[in-house]
Amino acid sequence: MLSCPRCQAPIEPTAIQCPRCQLTLKAHGHPGMTLHRTEGDEALCATCLYDTDDTCNFPQRPTATTCTLYRSVKPAEDLALPDPSFGQQINFWLRSHPGLMALGGLLLLSLVLVLVR
Ligand code: SF4
Ligand SMILES: [Zn+2]
Repeated sequence: MLSCPRCQAPIEPTAIQCPRCQLTLKAHGHPGMTLHRTEGDEALCATCLYDTDDTCNFPQRPTATTCTLYRSVKPAEDLALPDPSFGQQINFWLRSHPGLMALGGLLLLSLVLVLVR
């Protein structure tokens, strides 16, 4: 259960204000915001960009286990999809050039018709 950073009262994940001390919760609980959670024993801050560049002033730093502002220090290319295979590239090219494919089909058909005569 989450707790209020000021008075430690338990609060709902969707709360925008502490029910006990009325603190406005700016980072937690805003509907539509992703709440990042740790997946092991390590705190989120250990791999967070805002801890690395020392721009975070959240009270739960450096031991946050849940955080809405977490941003991984992992470079984006680590998360990118692997390069498409040669077959996938050909498939993509064929699907994005339907006009050329139709023209090629017609040429092939005419060639076959000329040859069978
Ligand atoms: S933004 Fe969250 S995860 Fe990142 S350093 Fe601050 S408290 Fe930790
Ligand atoms: Zn409170």
